[in-house]
This record gives sequence, structure tokens and C-alpha cells, in this order.
Amino acid sequence: MIAAQTWASYGKFPPPVAPYTNAPLPTGMAELKIIFPVVGQVDWRDNYNEGRGSFRHTGVDIRARKMTPVVAPFDGVFGKKVNSFWVYGDNGWKCLGTHLNNDSPGTNDNQSDPDYMFSPVLRHGDRVKAGQLVGYVGDSGKATGPHLHFELYSGEGLRNPTKALQGGRKLITPLSEIPRQEDKPDAKQERFEVCKRNWVAETGAFYGVLHAKQFDTGRVLINTVPRFVTFKFSKELINLTDPAAWPNDRSASIYFAREGEEVRIVKVVPPAD
Ligand SMILES: [Zn+2]
Repeated sequence: MIAAQTWASYGKFPPPVAPYTNAPLPTGMAELKIIFPVVGQVDWRDNYNEGRGSFRHTGVDIRARKMTPVVAPFDGVFGKKVNSFWVYGDNGWKCLGTHLNNDSPGTNDNQSDPDYMFSPVLRHGDRVKAGQLVGYVGDSGKATGPHLHFELYSGEGLRNPTKALQGGRKLITPLSEIPRQEDKPDAKQERFEVCKRNWVAETGAFYGVLHAKQFDTGRVLINTVPRFVTFKFSKELINLTDPAAWPNDRSASIYFAREGEEVRIVKVVPPAD
């Protein structure tokens, strides 16, 4: 599981904190253009400010199937902790989303691999683009069913996100965000963007999460279901690229050539940092 973070470890981007009180919340509507934070089919209504016993409901609940992709609603700086993400927007707004998935596929075990919760390529403090995949809908915490609990904050504080959600641009798939997008594969080649998860030097076995694919036409396909892949690296390739030194949360570009049934690694570009 993801290690617990201390408040100091959030640096300049700590999570926004909603009032935990029975007093009515600010009634102002968030007035801004966003990308709707959940992709595809959703079900929601304005349930901001509803009473919940000792506190009030500080966001809007967007119901969707478990593992539905969640995207950044605007450009900004990304933050995360277990079950939650937030974005400090370039527009002066902040958002927070929670109850991200923590279950292994097909279970309710609360102990999935973090790759079923967050995009594999995002580190606390990274820049994100509006529409970029950040994580997956789940029912972690005290959620009664799979949904994204979504909050919006102006510079002055919490606002009702309903109007922004109503006007939000709905996506059917996350917008593509890969490094060196222009560095597309040659004819009859494919490019895999893969984040390292394990590396066994003795055997040359490389284990990773496939984040995106790019075809020779330039088209990018963002993977919206975590897919774990294994490759065997040749000695030559290991010497050239030193996979042991690659960070776990940056993707390497692995280019393949297809020749009939054969798939061959033709080039590897190590992660940028
Ligand atoms: Zn909620």
C-alpha cells in the first residue's frame, strides 16, 4: 500500500480541507469552466450542504462504476494521498476528489495495488492538464457505493460545485498526455509508455504498467484499465538504457516492430527524469 504521508510531506500543496461542522456551508456556486471529473456514464444530483449528523456534505457525489477513469478538471498542480487527489488550478481554484478505488478487481478487499487507484505516472507536485487521467472511481473510506466525492474551492473557500459540473465538458476518454508525443513510431511500429514496477537484473525481466500506446499514425491511446506487462531486455539493451536507474513513476518509451507473429523491441527511450 501507499506509505502514510505527513502534513509536511505535502510541501506547498497540502490537501484543501473542508469545514467539518454542523453550521451551514458557504452557499455560493462555483462559477468556472471545468472538464467534468468523471469520464463516461455518471449519475449525480446537487447534494452539497446536506446534513450528515455531526457535519455537512462538503461536495457533490458523482456515482459511476468502479474503476471509471477520473480526470483533472483544470490545468494545475496535482497532489495525492491515500484514496484522494487534489489540483491547485492555474485558474486560482482548487478541487479535491476522494473515495478513489482501493479494491482488487472484482473484489471488495480494500487492499488493491495502488495502480488501481491512481494514474501510474503522477507524482505529488506534478503538473496536470485538464482532462488528464488521475485515478479511478471506487468506494474507499466510508463510501456506501462507488462514486467520486468532488469539492471545489475558490480563493475564498469552499463553493457548491453544482453549476460548474452542469456546465462541465464531458469526456468519453481521458485526453492524451504522454511525454514526447511528437516522437512517434515509424511505420509498422508501436510505442508503449510503460512505468517500471520491478526489475530483475539477473534475468533481464522488466515488469511495468502500460500507461499509453502510440501507433505509427501518431494516434495515442491512453490506457484506462491498469495493464501489467513484462518484457525481456537483452544484455545490449540493459547496457544501453540502465533500467535499474529508472524511476518508478515516469514512463519509458518502448518501441516495437511487428513482423507477422513476431514482436521485437527496436528502441527504448528511458524516462525523462
Ligand atoms: Zn460525498
